[in-house]
Amino acid sequence: MKTIQLNKRPVGTPQLSDFKLVNEEQPQIAVGEVLLKAAYLSVDPYLRGRMSEGKSYIEPFELNQAMSSGMVAEVVGSKHEGFSKGEFVTGMLEWKEYQNHNGEDLMKLDPNMAPLSAYLGVLGMTGLTAYLGLTEIGKPKEGETVVVSGAAGAVGSVVGQIAKLLGCRVVGIAGTDEKVEQLKAEYGFDEAINYKTTTDMNQAIAEACPNGVDVYFDNVGGEVSDGVMLNVNRFARIIVCGAISLYNATSMPMGPRIQPILIKNSVLMQGFIVFNFQDKYTEAISHLAKWLKVGELISTETIVEGFEKTPQAFIDLFEGKNKGKMIVKI
Ligand code: NDP
Repeated sequence: MKTIQLNKRPVGTPQLSDFKLVNEEQPQIAVGEVLLKAAYLSVDPYLRGRMSEGKSYIEPFELNQAMSSGMVAEVVGSKHEGFSKGEFVTGMLEWKEYQNHNGEDLMKLDPNMAPLSAYLGVLGMTGLTAYLGLTEIGKPKEGETVVVSGAAGAVGSVVGQIAKLLGCRVVGIAGTDEKVEQLKAEYGFDEAINYKTTTDMNQAIAEACPNGVDVYFDNVGGEVSDGVMLNVNRFARIIVCGAISLYNATSMPMGPRIQPILIKNSVLMQGFIVFNFQDKYTEAISHLAKWLKVGELISTETIVEGFEKTPQAFIDLFEGKNKGKMIVKI
């Protein structure tokens, strides 16, 4: 059975050679354990941080050890009284086709409630991030203008749709004309901007947001965000959720000094980590599941087939090759 390990720590943009596919013996299970067969695997931009050394909110991956992320797996063997063969679970699992597990922190899934892959996206970490970042820090009010970057991705597409459900004017920023069209036509965004073809982001935001920006949900950082910052209103709230434009930087680029903007406008700018809001997960999932069920929330997934394709699927996130949640089907 195959496993994917960290081969080298990337310098700049991750390369296929930073990963290695290794064959291992199929694990045996002991009493109190389950044998899991991987079904779906989530690749996420934050894994880039774990591939590097250094202090963060989560431990770095070890060289020559399996990487891990959110996964959905089937219980194919059980010597654990809490789990039966045939059940599906989700949790932070290793990038292995098969693995044994003591059951701790595994959540059982109901395949009849939603497609299994949804538990890695709209009903998983990215949906929770969108809902909790927006409602706990952004606190958007009806009629306010919400701008979201990385808008056609897993988190961004859900943020924008929730903001619409809450009665806001929503402006999305994404990297292709096709994505821009999708934001407006499929998700109902009021305006959308292609940051790759826009030469003046400040002006583009000003035109798309005639009443200024009340909430900015930032997934990308860098120059895109510099343009948004010049348009914030008094008492604006900025959710610093992700900074994918900086994750591969080998030196930290210098941006404008934003302190005067924050002071002049009494802006709240807060870094967000979804794991700090675990007490709100149940409530968030119930809202997301309800909207999904009645069709008020569209879940978009880019599914790549084949365990071996995992490293490429991860690298493709930095090229914007995904629409919605990037998932590997094993
Ligand atoms: P996405 O599905 O949004 O995939 C990444 C997207 O980022 C790509 O599709 C691409 O879209 C865009 N992108 C890539 N490179 C750049 C760049 N240089 N500048 C601008 N955009 C770029 O991923 P997720 O929804 O999973 O994550 C979105 C962000 O949220 C990430 O920064 C991630 O780290 C963060 N996050 C944070 C969490 C937290 O708790 N703080 C939890 C989950 C995610 P395009 O074609 O538009 O360029």
